[in-house]
Formats: sequence, C-alpha cells, structure tokens
Amino acid sequence: MKVKLLLTALCFTLLAAATGCESGHRWGVHDMERPLPEVVAAGKYAGQAPSDAIVLFNGKDLSEWESAKDGGRANWKVEDGYMEVVKETGAIRTKRAFGSCQLHVEWATPAKVSGKSQDSGNSGVFLMSKYEVQVLNTYKNRTYADGMAGAMYGQSPPLVNVCRAPGEWQSYDIIFRRPSFKGSKVVKPARITVLQNGVLVQDGFEIEGATAWKKRAKYEAHAAKLPLLLQDHGSPVRYRNIWIRELQQPEICNK
Ligand code: MG
Repeated sequence: MKVKLLLTALCFTLLAAATGCESGHRWGVHDMERPLPEVVAAGKYAGQAPSDAIVLFNGKDLSEWESAKDGGRANWKVEDGYMEVVKETGAIRTKRAFGSCQLHVEWATPAKVSGKSQDSGNSGVFLMSKYEVQVLNTYKNRTYADGMAGAMYGQSPPLVNVCRAPGEWQSYDIIFRRPSFKGSKVVKPARITVLQNGVLVQDGFEIEGATAWKKRAKYEAHAAKLPLLLQDHGSPVRYRNIWIRELQQPEICNK
C-alpha cells in the first residue's frame, strides 16, 4: 500500500514537472521567472486605440471593409470622420477575421427620428458575423427588451437602459470569447461582456447561439476566426472610431 502511494505521488510529481504545473498553478506565488506582460501604450483618452490595437476604421476610408453580400466594395458613405449605412447596400464586414477579442465601436442613430420600436436607428454589431449586439435608438423608444440597444439580440436584454438621445455619439466596449466546437457540437459557448457608454450592460453573458429572429438561437459549428460585421437594417446609422484587439485563449494548467 505504501509503495502504491509513493508511486502515485511520484507520478504526480513527474507530471507536474512535465507540464510545469503544481496544484493547478504553473507559476509560484511572486515567481520572478514568470514572464512579464507585453508593454502596451494606452490611448490618451478613454476610447482611443492602444498601441496594439488593429484600427478598423479611423474616419477616413473603408479599406478594412468589404460587402458582406459578395466580398466586393463596401458601399457605405464616409464623411466627416464617420461612416454611415447606405440603405440597401447591405451589411459590411471586415476583410480580416477575428475570434476572441476586445472591441471598441462608436455609433449614433439618426438625429431625425423617422420610425419607432425596431424601425428607429436599427443596425447591429455582429461578432464573428453571427452574434449580434443590437444597435438601436432606445431613448424614449419602446421596443421588446431583448431587442434594445445593448441587448444580445433575441437573447439577453441590457442590464440597464443607458441609451443616449438620437444623433448623439455612443460607445460599445465589448469583451468577446469565441465558442469552441468539437465536431458539430459546441463544447464551450461564447461569452460576452458589453459596456455601453462606459456602463455595464452585458455581464459575461453566455451566448445561446447565432442570432436569430423570432426563434431560439442555436449553435452551428464554425471557424475559429470570422469577420466582424455591421448590419444594414435600412436606417442611416453612423459609426466611427472602431478598433479591435485579438485575445489569446486563457492559459489553462491541466494538472
Ligand atoms: Mg439590428
């Protein structure tokens, strides 16, 4: 029995040495050998891209974007530092593909309100072209809770309604963890945290599947990286200052 215990202990020690793990921790407390995080220069003000961000729109052109319909030219309007949805030109998507990310987007619904409920300043930020954070005028504009600005559309209403008035610039800061699949099955659903105008509206919400309309969302396996997509819902919504930072999958210590 003693020998068996000793052998088990030895096995664990060898395994820990091989994986560099000890009681689930790869590094000791205050370990000076632990690699230091990369140095990143922060923006001068909140919302400004840090040095390691990929700037997807700097107010000048749509060179990072293409039509989501056919991969051709993105035909939204660019002027005065913003881009604007041109009705019926369709959604646009990034030429690059992304998985887990930190995303900053600024948007404004039209100053002149022309519709109500879902017809007032509707657009959307689709992570991986599939998971929509709703963009909508919900300032004194009643609609269903899971379709408000800051909602994971059809799944999770925002924690609070922090929507600014039509025409005013608003921001989303999004932390998104992509889903993982094994074959056709989801083994780790996507997770999302969203701050609207600096206020928490989605708190690590576990996404239920690809955004759907009037039905429950479900997952279908997809690539680890897909383009970011902005929706044309027929309303001239504006966007500016869009940047993204790719996030690594968290380091897991399998003891
Ligand atoms: Mg939408």
